[in-house]
Amino acid sequence: MDLAVSLITVTDVRRVTPHMARVTFDAGDLAAAIGDEPDQQVKLYFPKPGQAVPRLPEPGGDFMRWYEAFNAIPEDERPWMRSFTIRAADRERKTVDIDFVLHGDAGPAARWAESARPGDVLGRFGPSAMFARPVPLSAAIGASDWLLLAGDQAALPAIGTLVESLPEGFRAVAYVEVGGAADEQSFASRGQVSVHWVHRGHVPPGHGDALLQAVRGAEFPSGRVFAWLAGEAGTVRALRRHLVGDRGVDKRSIDFTGYWRLRLTQDDAPTQQDLADAQELLARAREMSADAQAPENG
Ligand SMILES: Cc1cc2nc3c(=O)[nH]c(=O)nc-3n(C[C@H](O)[C@H](O)[C@H](O)COP(=O)(O)OP(=O)(O)OC[C@H]3O[C@@H](n4cnc5c(N)ncnc54)[C@H](O)[C@@H]3O)c2cc1C
Repeated sequence: MDLAVSLITVTDVRRVTPHMARVTFDAGDLAAAIGDEPDQQVKLYFPKPGQAVPRLPEPGGDFMRWYEAFNAIPEDERPWMRSFTIRAADRERKTVDIDFVLHGDAGPAARWAESARPGDVLGRFGPSAMFARPVPLSAAIGASDWLLLAGDQAALPAIGTLVESLPEGFRAVAYVEVGGAADEQSFASRGQVSVHWVHRGHVPPGHGDALLQAVRGAEFPSGRVFAWLAGEAGTVRALRRHLVGDRGVDKRSIDFTGYWRLRLTQDDAPTQQDLADAQELLARAREMSADAQAPENG
């Protein structure tokens, strides 16, 4: 069976917090295929106006062929494609949960989530190594004494899965930017976790530097850190610069992803900075796989 691409149907929708909708999808065999690794990423396909179901090429076979066929669909019928994180999978019920930030009506994904109802259908591709190779949590933990997590509300679903997957007693410190106290969430963890909620207040998402200032002002635990950063791309870059430049953190100990770009949609072309980030991530992935294959020293 080809699990890479499928249609998934909404079975339940609820508000986790005022600006976060948790949507449960009947996902068939995908739920069982998803392992226990946190931070699993998918591409979702949202129907264009007038479509009840997003128009997608037949699944199966080579993905690149499928993607060519997808791009050949006329633009006014080709579904919007956006990236999301599997928040939870229930193998018995064959469902997955995905949390959507309700950031206003500016984007098709957020607009869809505002009014999603049971029976609505989206397309789904992944999780797949073709577009995402998050550093496995076990590798990050094996090489560090504590984990730093920093991100905005879009990163909360991934941060939730990371915190919930920590081994007994492992230390993690999270800095999460949300609008205010009502958007905070709680997580169960076997780890030793402290979450610092950074309130943006009336400042719109992606503006201001509240998250950067919170991390800048933080007193870090001692020992080797592995940092996981995600959120608005400019903020993620600034956080990374701070960790490398001011704190001396090894670049290889930072997993970073610009989840969204201020004033740009996910349909807009990558900027020079986006391309440079992608190059760096690719080089790091190559380095890590070379390290993993190298015979152990002495
Ligand atoms: C690997 C990965 C995993 C992700 N996981 C999740 C997830 O689990 N849940 C989730 O909600 N998001 C997640 N995101 C972020 C999500 O893909 C983007 O926010 C996406 O742009 C939303 O699409 P849209 O159609 O709503 O807005 P777009 O059409 O892409 O953008 C429209 C406008 O909205 C602004 N905008 C986009 N996203 C946000 C935001 N979060 N806050 C404020 N303004 C925004 C843009 O700057 C633009 O001006 C993830 C991104 C990546 C790369």
